[in-house]
Amino acid sequence: MKESFLGIYRKSMHERKICMFKEVVGVGKCPCCGFEVATPSKEWKYNAFLVKRFECPRCEKWFREYYYKGKLSFILIATEKGPRKVEGQ
Ligand SMILES: [Zn+2]
Repeated sequence: MKESFLGIYRKSMHERKICMFKEVVGVGKCPCCGFEVATPSKEWKYNAFLVKRFECPRCEKWFREYYYKGKLSFILIATEKGPRKVEGQ
């Protein structure tokens, strides 16, 4: 079935809501598997950044979100060789 304009519009609005929700609540999306972790296990300040640490229950790795002025700047994920930097979306 071809997707209607309204369908696409609704979808984009839905995505925007998720984005807004993310800004307010701070949902962390795992860069490895895409699992959304609702609450950070730890939060702290690192220079000008606000750091949120999440534990992904699906791949059992941690990842840290670095926020600069309220916007997600980059993500660090745990790998066997140490933390790896992932650019923010
Ligand atoms: Zn994961």
